[in-house]
Amino acid sequence: MIPLLKAAIGPDTLERIADVLRTGMIGHGPVVEEFEAALGARLGNPYVATVNNGTSGLHLALRLAGTSGTGDGREAGLDAARDEVLSTPLTFEATNWAVLANGLRLRWVDVDPATLNLDLDDLAKKISPATRAIVIVHWAGYPVDLDRLREILDAAEAAHGYRPVVVEDCAHAWGSTLRGRPVGGDGENICVFSFHATKHLGTGCGGMLTLPDERSYERARRLRFFGIDRRADRVNGNYDVPEWGYNFYMDQISASIGLANLETVDERVEQHRRNAAFYDAELAGVPGLELTAREPDRESSCWLYPVKAEDRPSFMRKMNDAGIMVSMLVRRNDTHGAVRDVADPALPGLDAVHDRIVHIPVGWWLSEADRAHIADTIKSGW
Ligand SMILES: *Cc1c(COP(=O)(O)O)cnc(C)c1O
Repeated sequence: MIPLLKAAIGPDTLERIADVLRTGMIGHGPVVEEFEAALGARLGNPYVATVNNGTSGLHLALRLAGTSGTGDGREAGLDAARDEVLSTPLTFEATNWAVLANGLRLRWVDVDPATLNLDLDDLAKKISPATRAIVIVHWAGYPVDLDRLREILDAAEAAHGYRPVVVEDCAHAWGSTLRGRPVGGDGENICVFSFHATKHLGTGCGGMLTLPDERSYERARRLRFFGIDRRADRVNGNYDVPEWGYNFYMDQISASIGLANLETVDERVEQHRRNAAFYDAELAGVPGLELTAREPDRESSCWLYPVKAEDRPSFMRKMNDAGIMVSMLVRRNDTHGAVRDVADPALPGLDAVHDRIVHIPVGWWLSEADRAHIADTIKSGW
C-alpha cells in the first residue's frame, strides 16, 4: 500500500538523542533553546516559543488572542456571551476545539471551494464588534491571502474601533510562501505550527508559536510553563505567578528529533512540490475530477494534495484496490455534536465541495513509478 502520510527521520537523529540521554537532561534544557533559535532564524522571527504539540499551541494562542493583554498579569477576562471567534469548519478538529476550550463563542465562516481555505469575502461580511479573534488554516499548505486579510482587518478596525487578533493554524504550512515571504513568520499574527510526526517538520509530538512582539512572546513562555518565568529565582522561592498557565513545554528528545529533521526538511518540501506539479499536469482535465486552485503569487508547501472527485466512494474504492491509500482526512466540523449549540449559518461553499474532497499521496516517499501509478489509476476512471 502506498501510504498517505509518513514520518521522516533526519540523518543524525540517533546521535542527537544519544547526546541528550547522556546529559540526563531529557526534560527542559539547552537543546530546546538551540531548536528555537534555529527555527527563528529560518522564519526570520526571533519570537518563537516551542510547545509539546500543535494543539497546545492553539490553546495558548487563543488564550493570548482572547484577552486584552495589558502585560502585567491582570489581563481582562473573556466574556463568553460576547466574545466570538470566526473560524473555518473545514479543518482538523484541534483548530476549533481550542476555541471552545477557551470559552469563546465559535462562529462559522464559509469555505472557498476553489482553495478549501476560509472564504475571505464571507469573513469580511461576518466581522462584527463582538469579533475578538479570527482563526485561519492554510489547508494542505496553500496560503490564505494574508495581505487581503490585513485590508479586511483595517476596514473592521476603522468601523468598530477594535482589531481582531488573527491566529494562523500553520500545521500544514512549513515551507509555504506568500509573495516571497514565509508563511508563519510575518510578525503580525499569532502563528501555530504542528511538529506532529507526519507533518513536514516532525519531532514526534511537538509544535510552536511564532509571535508578533516581545511582550506576547514573554507571556507565551510563561504560560507554557504554569505561568512561571523559568529564569526567575525559584531556588529561594522568590517568584510570583501573575497568571496561571499550562504544562505545554517541549522536551529535549523532541527538540533533538526536530533539529535533525530541520536539516533535510527543505528537500522534502521540494519533493512534495515536484510531485504536486506532476499531478497538476497529469490530472488536469480528467473527467469527474477537479484540482484545487493555484495562484502564481504563492507557493504551497504541498503537505497534502486534495482533489475533488465526483462519486467519492467509487474513487476511494478504486484507489484502495490499486494499493493507494487515500482519505478525506477530516470532515466538516460544524455538524459535530460537540458544536450543536453553535449557530448554524448557510455555508454554500462548503456544501458544494465537502462530499467530493479526498487527499491522494504526494509525499517525499513516492517513487516516480508510484506517482505515475497514482496518476494512471485516476486517469483510467472510477
Ligand atoms: C496536525 C494538526 C493540528 C494539531 O497538531 P498536533 O501537533 O497533532 O497537536 C492542528 N491543526 C491542523 C490543521 C492539523 O493538521
